[in-house]
Amino acid sequence: MDIHFLGTGSAYPGSERDNTSICFSNDGYHVLVDVSGNPCRKLKQFQVELVELDAVVFTHFHIDHIYGLPSLLWGMWLEDRRKPLKIYCDHRNEKKLQEWLSTMEAHQWPIAFSIDVETFDGDRDMELLSGGGMTFSCFKALHSVPTAGLEVRCDDRITVYSGDTEINARIGEYAHIDMLIHEATSARRVAGNHSSLVEIMEKYDVERIGKIVLVHLSDQEPYEEEVEKLVTSKVIIGEDLMTQKV
Ligand SMILES: [Zn+2]
Ligand SMILES: [Zn+2]
Repeated sequence: MDIHFLGTGSAYPGSERDNTSICFSNDGYHVLVDVSGNPCRKLKQFQVELVELDAVVFTHFHIDHIYGLPSLLWGMWLEDRRKPLKIYCDHRNEKKLQEWLSTMEAHQWPIAFSIDVETFDGDRDMELLSGGGMTFSCFKALHSVPTAGLEVRCDDRITVYSGDTEINARIGEYAHIDMLIHEATSARRVAGNHSSLVEIMEKYDVERIGKIVLVHLSDQEPYEEEVEKLVTSKVIIGEDLMTQKV
């Protein structure tokens, strides 16, 4: 499985990164988790065709995770997409999503593909979708609004994406995680609703985790300084346009 990082930035406006958005790809099946920045350009840079993208999953409805959707749909229409697009969101955000689609008048564009909204309950552990040998499930993240973390299973390997969250005991329950993609809005500072790199290293059993990729990063935070202090080399500071294989 290839994990393409379209953006790795936090909600704070930054000059180095687009907001966090990640595409999981395997066997020609592509799932985009959150939509920020210029999604069409970024997907093309990863050779993911707009007509091929299978699903979008929204972890939550904070602006930094959703604002790229109009641009994505507009690009799909211009490229004459025919394949239905599934959009997954928490049931508590369905009305907002439908209102937003109607505000952008998506249903009036002469698009030749259907937009199918599927809802889930982000407070529970539940399977969302399967495709290309990947199975996506959600679990409750600890944030200021309903937010899902995601588990992606592929080829007997487990990838976990924290979503926007405080340190989450649910993540600590895994006996093994091959790759943990975790938000680190700050390097050291402890702030409600989010996590820091120092907390991640202190509060999870890092021995049980193969690699840790930090995302949702803020400019001017001393991530590199903190990573240099670590005895382990399993921590990767996320960068826009990088791809990791799991
Ligand atoms: Zn965010
Ligand atoms: Zn958020």
